[in-house]
Amino acid sequence: MNCYNHPMQAAVSQCSDCSKGLCHECATAYSIPICNACNKARISNERVQIIKELIFTFAFGVGFAYLNGKYLFFQGESFSTKTVIWYYIIFIYAFAGIVSGWKTLTSITPRMFLVLPILGWVLYFVVKLFLSFWLGLVMLPIRTIRNIIRLVKLQKITV
Ligand SMILES: [Zn+2]
Ligand SMILES: [Zn+2]
Repeated sequence: MNCYNHPMQAAVSQCSDCSKGLCHECATAYSIPICNACNKARISNERVQIIKELIFTFAFGVGFAYLNGKYLFFQGESFSTKTVIWYYIIFIYAFAGIVSGWKTLTSITPRMFLVLPILGWVLYFVVKLFLSFWLGLVMLPIRTIRNIIRLVKLQKITV
């Protein structure tokens, strides 16, 4: 097999995603042996995932803060603008943090709960939600900053 990009060169490796032949130069162009097209696809995929996470995290935070305010916190009473602003800052942070905490837990816990009775799933969900809340208070800024930095880097790579 020869390199897909340099037909005169013998392939020394294959693209990790599409198995096209890669010569030494092409095989070492990126941190893993991958062709240009697949590398581009991975970058745009990763970018979409990150943007999705950012949007989902803050939409979740704003949505639940709004619902919690409307049906529980503010119920019928009127509060000062200052209180309302602080309410939103704190509750958007807390609810958005649940998403960050949840995603962090998902990425560090092995998928070992394949066979659980329904009660086991409920318990697992409740415990995970509880842990996500506390973990989220720390992980929300960390994940958000990390995601934004990664987005900027991905932007630079493609230009
Ligand atoms: Zn490829
Ligand atoms: Zn090549």
